[in-house]
Amino acid sequence: NLILHYQPKVALANGDVLGVEALLRWKHARLGLIGPDRFIPVAERTGLIKQITLVVLDESMRQAQEWNRNGINLNLAINLSAYSLHDPTLTNDIGRALAKWGVPAESVELEITESALMADPVRAAATLRELTDMGLQIAIDDFGTGYSSLSRLRELPVSTIKIDKSFTLGLPYSDDDTAIVRSTIDLAHNLGLAAVAEGVESETVWERLVELGCDFAQGDYVSRPIP
Ligand code: C2E
Ligand code: CA
Ligand code: CA
Repeated sequence: NLILHYQPKVALANGDVLGVEALLRWKHARLGLIGPDRFIPVAERTGLIKQITLVVLDESMRQAQEWNRNGINLNLAINLSAYSLHDPTLTNDIGRALAKWGVPAESVELEITESALMADPVRAAATLRELTDMGLQIAIDDFGTGYSSLSRLRELPVSTIKIDKSFTLGLPYSDDDTAIVRSTIDLAHNLGLAAVAEGVESETVWERLVELGCDFAQGDYVSRPIP
């Protein structure tokens, strides 16, 4: 009853769809679709998250393979919880899913929240190094909501920073949010990373992000997550 929806990630320069992010939902017989914020934290506390991560890896890569077979080449982004990041079998599990479905590691990006990375940055760096050695890309999710040490950030082999939607949503109204988004984009570029804004809900925000030099946008203005 776990299903994935996908939301496109689009280049702000020309509207090209670069890839999709897999977002998990629980299809409940009585309650309908339940969002991940309502069950992932519980799954983490009860140890069920491992099984969930395996389902997400298998199903998203099956889908990627099906798209590839139909000539649709999209990068696939998968969210990983803090628990999974520190699971010693993670790299093995990912390698097995890639091999099972014949998906190139280079086309898969793992999204890990800033707070998950910074909870144990030394250990996180070692795991990320193994994953990037396999060819995977890493994105820092919800950037701006954790407590990054910039020197630690520099040491992590990440390729993308995802600006948290709380800042993107404030762009039309708040000078502070504009300053934060602008600084985050500059920080990303100065470190040689791509900047993605999540939660883009309007044309106004899209245009503001173009002006600020952001690379990619995700949000309801482009497309909601869809089956
Ligand atoms: P996230 O990774 O930050 O994902 C972005 C969330 O913003 C998604 O919520 C998405 O549906 C929502 N969103 C997209 N566009 C817009 C927009 O224009 N405006 C607004 N206000 N919201 C937008 P969702 O799907 O409920 O997922 C919530 C969180 O659950 C995700 O946040 C991610 O941290 C986690 N999650 C999702 N799928 C998985 C998964 O397979 N595994 C794990 N461990 N966590 C997952
Ligand atoms: Ca994400
Ligand atoms: Ca977020």
